[in-house]
Amino acid sequence: MDLEILKKRMVKEQLIPRGISDRRVLEAFDRVQRHKFVPLDMQKIAYADNPLPVGEGQTISQPYMVALMTEKLALKGDEKVLEIGTGSGYQAAILAELAKEIYSIERFTMLAERARETLECTGYKNVKIMTGDGTLGWGEYAPFDRIIVTAGAPHIPETLFAQLKEGGRMVIPVGGGLSQVLTVVEKEDGRIKAHDICGCVFVPLVGKEGWKN
Ligand code: SAH
Repeated sequence: MDLEILKKRMVKEQLIPRGISDRRVLEAFDRVQRHKFVPLDMQKIAYADNPLPVGEGQTISQPYMVALMTEKLALKGDEKVLEIGTGSGYQAAILAELAKEIYSIERFTMLAERARETLECTGYKNVKIMTGDGTLGWGEYAPFDRIIVTAGAPHIPETLFAQLKEGGRMVIPVGGGLSQVLTVVEKEDGRIKAHDICGCVFVPLVGKEGWKN
C-alpha cells in the first residue's frame, strides 16, 4: 500500500472522527511523513493507530495523541515552543509546521542525534535539539509561549512552569508511572490554572524534577 494513501487515511479515519478539527493541525499531519521518523522495518505500519518503538525502550506516540496534544497547544504560527522528549522527532516536525521556533530536549544522546538527522533530511530548519534533562528546561531560550511534555510526569516541574511566559500554555501528562491524565496548564498572574483532558499512557519523564531513574 502506498504510504501517501495511508497518511491521508490516518487523518481521515483516526483524527477527524475523534474530534481533531483545527485545520492547520490536520494539514500538518497531511504533510509530515511519519514513516521517515520510525525504524526502517516499521515504515509499513507507521500510520497505524498505535504507538511504535523508536529505540532505547522509548516510543513515538499514537498519531491521535500527537494531534490532540498539538491541538491543545492552540498554535497560531509565531510561537516559541519547548518540547520535552524529542524521541523520534515526529512531534517536533509537526510543531515546526505550526510555530516559529521549536526547542526540543531528549535525555538519550542516540535518539537526539537520530532525530536531528531525520529533521535535517526532511527539511525542518526551525528545530533545535539538545541532549539533557528536560525537566530543567532550556534557560538560554526561555521564556516560551508554549511547552509540551511528551513523557509522563509525577507533577508539573516547577522549573518548566517558571520558563513558561505569562499567558502561555503547557500540555503535559501528569500522574503515576503506568497511566496519567493529559493536562493543560495555563499561566495566569504567575499562577497555575490547570484542566484535565483525558487519561493517557506515556513512558516516564525521568529527571531531577521528574521520576528518579
Ligand atoms: N515526542 C516523541 C515521543 C516521545 S517518547 C516523538 O514524537 O517521537 C518520550 C521521550 O521522552 C523519550 O524519548 C524519552 O527518552 C524522553 N524523556 C524522558 N524523560 C526525559 C527528560 N527528563 N528529558 C528529556 N527527555 C526525556
